[in-house]
Amino acid sequence: MDRRNFIRISSVALLPIALGLFPDRKEDGSYTIKVNSNRSFGHLLRTNTHTEPTIHSKIDTVIVGGGIAGVAAAYQLRNESFRLFEGGETLGGSSGAGDWKSARFATGAHYELAYPKEFGSLLIQSLQELRIIQWNATTELYEFTDKKYVISTEKMEQCFIAGELVEDILDEVGDISGFEKLLATYKNEMFLPTRIIDDKHLHLSAVTFSDFLQEQGVLTNELKERIDYQMMDDWGAKSDVVSALAGIHYYSCRPYDDKVVELFSPPQGNYYFIEKMIGALPKIEAVECNAMVSAIKIKEDKVFVDVIRRNGEKERVEANQVIYAGQKHTLKYIMPEAFPLFDQNEYAPWAVVNLICDKKVNFGKWQNDVLSQEETFLGFVDSNYQHNRSDAYNVITAYYCFEPKQREELVNIESSPDQWVKEVIELIEQETDTPLSRFVKHVEIKLMGHAMPIPGVNYLNLKSVPDYDQKIVFAGVDTGRLPLFSEAFDSGLEAANKVLLNQEEMKNES
Ligand SMILES: Cc1cc2nc3c(=O)[nH]c(=O)nc-3n(C[C@H](O)[C@H](O)[C@H](O)COP(=O)(O)OP(=O)(O)OC[C@H]3O[C@@H](n4cnc5c(N)ncnc54)[C@H](O)[C@@H]3O)c2cc1C
Repeated sequence: MDRRNFIRISSVALLPIALGLFPDRKEDGSYTIKVNSNRSFGHLLRTNTHTEPTIHSKIDTVIVGGGIAGVAAAYQLRNESFRLFEGGETLGGSSGAGDWKSARFATGAHYELAYPKEFGSLLIQSLQELRIIQWNATTELYEFTDKKYVISTEKMEQCFIAGELVEDILDEVGDISGFEKLLATYKNEMFLPTRIIDDKHLHLSAVTFSDFLQEQGVLTNELKERIDYQMMDDWGAKSDVVSALAGIHYYSCRPYDDKVVELFSPPQGNYYFIEKMIGALPKIEAVECNAMVSAIKIKEDKVFVDVIRRNGEKERVEANQVIYAGQKHTLKYIMPEAFPLFDQNEYAPWAVVNLICDKKVNFGKWQNDVLSQEETFLGFVDSNYQHNRSDAYNVITAYYCFEPKQREELVNIESSPDQWVKEVIELIEQETDTPLSRFVKHVEIKLMGHAMPIPGVNYLNLKSVPDYDQKIVFAGVDTGRLPLFSEAFDSGLEAANKVLLNQEEMKNES
């Protein structure tokens, strides 16, 4: 998120699944609280009852998971025979969205940036096909068609460091020209999807970002503190955990130093992309929510997929191939033999808090980065500066990122959200010196125990999506990719293409 600010500096120097829903409840103040958590989903998988299925069906391809990756795979297979099962009440996964009265808001990923022409053609072509982006010959970037959702540069961002307002997260850090010069050497080398980055950079995946910067003699304590904030914000862990490849990619993947790179953020966040892809499907009934895949078994040349619905009904679907776009840590229950492919993955837990306020609240900028004593709190977005369909409400969306060892914190929040919400509101008031609590009408909390894979040492692999026994093709950001919309999107398209290719081979063999 702070890349753009970083760039401003450089331009001077260089230029749910099954949701555990709490009923809305009235706080003794004046707001109601609703908690959405995917914990009960995990529980259901672990205690999967060994009842026999009552429904049997057949299809060519099953897609597991309705996040960006699964939906992109469905979009790519739109004219084929497939079914998509999503365990949550709605599609989107970590790019989900919510509604309250006339307010609409993102409960996960909330923005995307314009694309340089060197980015992957699969990604660019599909976004063009969907009329989401178009080529701008002046800026030489693929920019967004729906201009009303582009955030104005003047209202984009501000940063609160220990209660003080500064323009940029890297402000007042001292001389960072060595850091900038080092990053400039990777200009035009860092792309999305990461699989198209040249293998010559793979060695950068084997060392932490902080060790790398230290070796290059450009890291000071102050700089590390700020970089750590930025790494947590996008990669879910600090610079002594994420790899140098992830760190360098953060600052160098777009031409921030010599162009204005459009930032696109509709009220529903990246769920916008899900809506576009779902809208392009000829058969919407191929996509089902509240349907959780509990087991995948390969028998001879077929794959058998068990699906549990909320009413306890169990269906066994016989398929030729499966695209598995769910989070990979649950494979240990669903398909244990495939789990070793991903057993080194570490995931960052996140909590997203949407504070639906009346229109009077206003923080002055869209993105508000906050560096405070409360390290898990990263800041918030003020929907005032977004094209907002609600005349009555503004939504303040706060982001919290936890270390994997703090996963239990989410359980505490789920069991007593009232106190935590109070603390969230007080923290924002304290750090920004702006009254908030009296404007809050309703609060939605989304808890994600395994929100994003951490791109630690040797995680990024610059490879195509993996498969198991040729019949199960994996998609999703947790296949050795960065936790980003475009990585998830590309993985789904790539997995679908792999399935189509396998299908062709199978036909030729028979
Ligand atoms: C708080 C937050 C903010 C973010 N902000 C941004 C941003 O602004 N821009 C950006 O580019 N990226 C952002 N990201 C990252 C981005 O959201 C993700 O990289 C992307 O959405 C991941 O998509 P995915 O399809 O790989 O996985 P997921 O979104 O995790 O989707 C997996 C889906 O599979 C379902 N599932 C899992 N197991 C099963 C099963 N057994 N049966 C049925 N369904 C199952 C899950 O319910 C889920 O819906 C953010 C991430 C978080 C957590």
